[in-house]
Order: sequence, then structure tokens, then C-alpha cells
Amino acid sequence: EDENATGRSHHRVTTKGYNVPECVATFEAIRDRYGISTLILSNLSKNGYSHPTGIQSYGIPILLESRDLAAISPTGTGKTLSYLLPTFVSLRAPSASADVDCGSGVRAIILAPTRELAHQIHNECLKLAQGRKWRIVLFSKASANTFSDKAVRDKVDIIVSTPLRLVASLQSGSLLLNNVRHLIFDEADRMFDREFLPQVEGIVASCTHPSIQKAVFSATLPANAEKIAMDILRDPIRVVVGLKDT
Ligand code: ADP
Ligand code: MG
Repeated sequence: EDENATGRSHHRVTTKGYNVPECVATFEAIRDRYGISTLILSNLSKNGYSHPTGIQSYGIPILLESRDLAAISPTGTGKTLSYLLPTFVSLRAPSASADVDCGSGVRAIILAPTRELAHQIHNECLKLAQGRKWRIVLFSKASANTFSDKAVRDKVDIIVSTPLRLVASLQSGSLLLNNVRHLIFDEADRMFDREFLPQVEGIVASCTHPSIQKAVFSATLPANAEKIAMDILRDPIRVVVGLKDT
């Protein structure tokens, strides 16, 4: 176990796992190391994001190095961007554009326990993707229905959904997850309880791409939820951001 102080913030960051990538202090450092399009970089500053938060400094390199991640960081510390930025960087280009051969069907799934939260995440996606033709779908009954058209579902890049909504489409056969490369659980403590577990397991089993990356984000991860996370993740790195002296 190795401990690092972030210096700038009031948070203490602890990491656990092998070969933990070095954290980054600036978004420019992320660009220099991994490549971020000028557009996304300018969307960050447009939204007033000048420096990565603690969980972003640690989480973004881990995800960009294709590792699985369990990230525990308090509410309001910027967990959303921690997974959105790497997702956009990894996907490289929208499915609808000709300059990338990425297979067909949705490539990233972001799951949230409630519709309101899924809606907020979708809005963050749109802000970050502004100016580029990503197809980012907030799953609802209506948007799910458009997936009966193969031409529509093949061009979708990212789906934001609750587990229940997604499972309904999986069961109707209108949605295939075999090309999903990034599966993200936000507010995982609320999804890894008994109520959602069968749905979560069904979704994980449907994501059959061999190089899928999975990540779990939460403000807290009680022992039972942590156990489920560790069953789902493969050789994960665990990052915990905590208040100092707590
Ligand atoms: P969490 O999911 O950890 O509760 P959010 O992702 O919802 O946190 O972010 C909390 C707030 O902080 C949001 O208003 C978001 O726009 C803002 N935020 C996120 N990252 C940064 C950053 N690097 N710089 C400034 N503000 C940020
Ligand atoms: Mg959040």
C-alpha cells in the first residue's frame, strides 16, 4: 500500500494495486501523456475546469492505461469527469465517423442508480463532447425503442442508463452489449445491493468483449458492496480519497 498527499487539496489519496500509473497534476499533462483532442481540452476550460481534482489526477491515468478501477471519493470531488474524460479519449472518434474502425454497437455504458443521476451524467457528457458528433443516449423507454433500428443502434457511442432500463432492452433483444469496451458504475454503493444485483450481474454477463474495462465509482463502498465490486473487476486498482485526519 502506498500513500500520497495531493498537496494542493485538502484530501489524502491512497492507492492499492500493482503498477499504479503516476498521477497527473494538470489536464495538459494528460494531453501530453495520452493525447486529448484540442476540442475536449477547450471544452474543459470552457466549463471552468482548470485543474484536475484528486480523484481525477489519479483515476484518469489509471483508466487511460486500461486498468480496472474502484474509486472511492466524497460527493462533490468530480468523480463524473474522472470516468468521462478517459472514456472520450479511449473511444477516439464517434462511431458514425469514417476515421475509426471500432466494430458496431455501443462502446461505453455508464450506469447510475436513478434516472435523475443518469440525466445529470448525460448532461456532463454533452458538455464535454460539444462540437463533436458523438451519439450519447440517455436511455428511456422512448430512446430504447429507437434501437429496434440496427442503423440507429450501430452508431451509438455511449449509453447512460439505470440498470433496470438497460436490462429491459437486453431482455427484449433490441440491445447487444458485445462491443462494450467501458462499463462504468456510478454511485456503485447504491447499485451493488440486493435490489439491483441480479440486473447488474445480467449486464456484466452481457458485456462479452474480451478487452472490456470496468470501473466503479462511489462516495462510500461498504464491505458487501466492495465484495461485489471485487468480483466484477479484474486486477483493479483501488483509489481512496479521504478528508485529512479522518
Ligand atoms: P461527484 O460525482 O464526486 O459528487 P461531480 O462529478 O458531480 O462530483 O462534480 C461536482 C462538481 O464539481 C460539479 O459541479 C462539476 O462540474 C465540478 N467539477 C468537476 N471537476 C472539476 C474540476 N476539475 N474543476 C472544477 N470543477 C469541477
Ligand atoms: Mg457523482
